[in-house]
Amino acid sequence: MKSFKKSTDFILDLFFPVSCLNCNLAKNKLTNPQGYLCLNCFKKIEINSWAFCPKCNKKLINLQPCQTHKNNPLKILGAATFYENKLVKKIIWEYKYNFIEPLVDPLNEILKKYYLAVFEPELTNKQPLVTFIPLYPARYRWRGFNQSEVLAKKFALDLNLEFYETLKRKKFKKPQMEIKSYQARFENIKNSFEIIKANQIKNKDIILIDDISTTGATLIEAAKVLKQNGAKKVYGLVVAKG
Ligand SMILES: [Zn+2]
Ligand SMILES: [Zn+2]
Repeated sequence: MKSFKKSTDFILDLFFPVSCLNCNLAKNKLTNPQGYLCLNCFKKIEINSWAFCPKCNKKLINLQPCQTHKNNPLKILGAATFYENKLVKKIIWEYKYNFIEPLVDPLNEILKKYYLAVFEPELTNKQPLVTFIPLYPARYRWRGFNQSEVLAKKFALDLNLEFYETLKRKKFKKPQMEIKSYQARFENIKNSFEIIKANQIKNKDIILIDDISTTGATLIEAAKVLKQNGAKKVYGLVVAKG
């Protein structure tokens, strides 16, 4: 199976040559092993050295919650970088809307680099459970994959962490991106998650992954449901903050 995959990769590379989205350098073992983002351009992406309060966006050092919002179900939002970064924006956009699934690799590299520097040293439990924000079934069928799930799974596998699907969407609401006001986003997402197996998350520390976060509303609502069902600590973790 593996050699079959290798040979199909080889054929794909032959007909659809892969190159760095930023500098066009062709895929090569030495300086561009993954293909879509070369090592040099990867190094240039600025990675944050702090987390955020999901309520007021305050910078949080050493994962210490914001004093004003320490009762929020989600106290810590980790964001590796910013969506304003043109290259990051391009990678996320191509991944999400042009369905270029291999772009999960550079996104995962960005996320891991940040997590290992900012999260891992501060966590009391070094083996948190990794999970993701689910899509509505209709959206999943349309897209064919859940970008957050693919990313979370890869991230967990690379770091040898437990991975579970823990939440599902209850009813169809408007995509959060279509709603402008902060308050309306909170209203729109309210009560839209349901727990899958509560016993999987009891007393667990959880890393909740999504690709981007703008208002934090989705992650806060999901964290609320995880906490209500027995999770100990919930941390949000995204590649980019909008
Ligand atoms: Zn490059
Ligand atoms: Zn705050």
